[in-house]
Amino acid sequence: MEAYKVKSSKEAMALEDKYGAHNYHPLPVVLERGEGVYLWDIEGKKYFDFLSAYSAVNQGHCHPKIVGALIDQAKILTLTSRAFYNDSLGEFEKYACDYFGYEKVLPVNSGVEAVETAIKICRKWGYVKKGIVDNEAKIIVCNNNFHGRTTTVVSFSNDPDAHNNFGPFTPGFVRIPHNDLHALEKALEDQNVAGFLCEPIQGEAGVFVPDDGYLKKAAKMCKANNVLFIADEVQTGIARTGRLLAVNYEDVHPDILILGKALSGGVYPVSAVLADDNIMGVIKPGQHGSTFGGNPLAARVAIAALEVVKEENLAENAFTLGVLFRKTIEERIGKHPMVKKVRGKGLLNALLINDTEDGHTAWDICLKLRDNGLLAKPTHGNIIRFAPPLTITEDQILECVDIICQTIIDFSFTMDE
Ligand code: PLP
Repeated sequence: MEAYKVKSSKEAMALEDKYGAHNYHPLPVVLERGEGVYLWDIEGKKYFDFLSAYSAVNQGHCHPKIVGALIDQAKILTLTSRAFYNDSLGEFEKYACDYFGYEKVLPVNSGVEAVETAIKICRKWGYVKKGIVDNEAKIIVCNNNFHGRTTTVVSFSNDPDAHNNFGPFTPGFVRIPHNDLHALEKALEDQNVAGFLCEPIQGEAGVFVPDDGYLKKAAKMCKANNVLFIADEVQTGIARTGRLLAVNYEDVHPDILILGKALSGGVYPVSAVLADDNIMGVIKPGQHGSTFGGNPLAARVAIAALEVVKEENLAENAFTLGVLFRKTIEERIGKHPMVKKVRGKGLLNALLINDTEDGHTAWDICLKLRDNGLLAKPTHGNIIRFAPPLTITEDQILECVDIICQTIIDFSFTMDE
């Protein structure tokens, strides 16, 4: 039986609507091809990608070096499982440990799987190293967190869409306000706390950047209380915010580091948890794993993806162009009645729109941006996230600022009519 071939965007959307579960609400655009910062739809229209697959494509679409590594390895060996050794995994493990400054890495596949892995490592560390009584370990998390969508991870989400009707929930999580050191101090008084899990910048929630010094103080407080500081850098990591990691801004070295997305440049699902021996050593054979985790294809792709980040100075580019992006947007439309705020770090930015709670206007603006050749999507109602591939040039970012500003200005005219 041959698969049906779609011939138009309309047809592709109709097929997804009829046969796919409705667990997403995509912007109506059907993409066929990508290269660098650009995407093309089925009809051949070209767009700037300002989402980068939620920051997975930091290195740009179909980066030749990363795709080359995938193709070369795919012809030799793809999967052996961890029942045997393979010749690529050790090389990736050494490369990743040296790159991020850890003694051990545990590779898995999706971002949420890495979060689950970190939770297990932290809990086990809590019992065998800290001496927490059996089944009493707690992990502190923040309000409006987003760490993925497995049952345990949505157990500590306060987003009703992610959480409601998916119980019974996994116990052992204490939620405190984000960016609140007093709340953290109070929560840390509980001797059963094993870890504090946070996003250095809350991406999905709408690019909430905490106060300067927050992460450093939080990490220090965790250390003083013998609690593991766990940074989920699945979205913020790997150059997105203008440093290799967002925690680097404050010289914080998390006890457990969680990475995903751009670890493969969006070419293949690769995620990982990094920690030193005294923490990672609590996991023994048979206690955690995954058939695909650490396969040769993933290992080769991840090495290439990390090399590209250094070779092309992506962190520096994200830092410089992020400053330029926020400054020019601020100058051009900062005082526009439709714009509430521009915020972000590096090339993880958000435009807050004066809008109703349901975010209708932000959605409609994204439709107009699409018509004008730029793809972005609202997150949580009235917030539009802007996260282009980090390979973007100064000329390209200024062209995109033009598109965004003109779209907002034209949009307000259509609203007045
Ligand atoms: N953690 C953070 C901070 C994320 O932003 C995301 C996804 O957006 C995840 C975890 C989950 O990653 P994945 O969708 O690959 O499971």
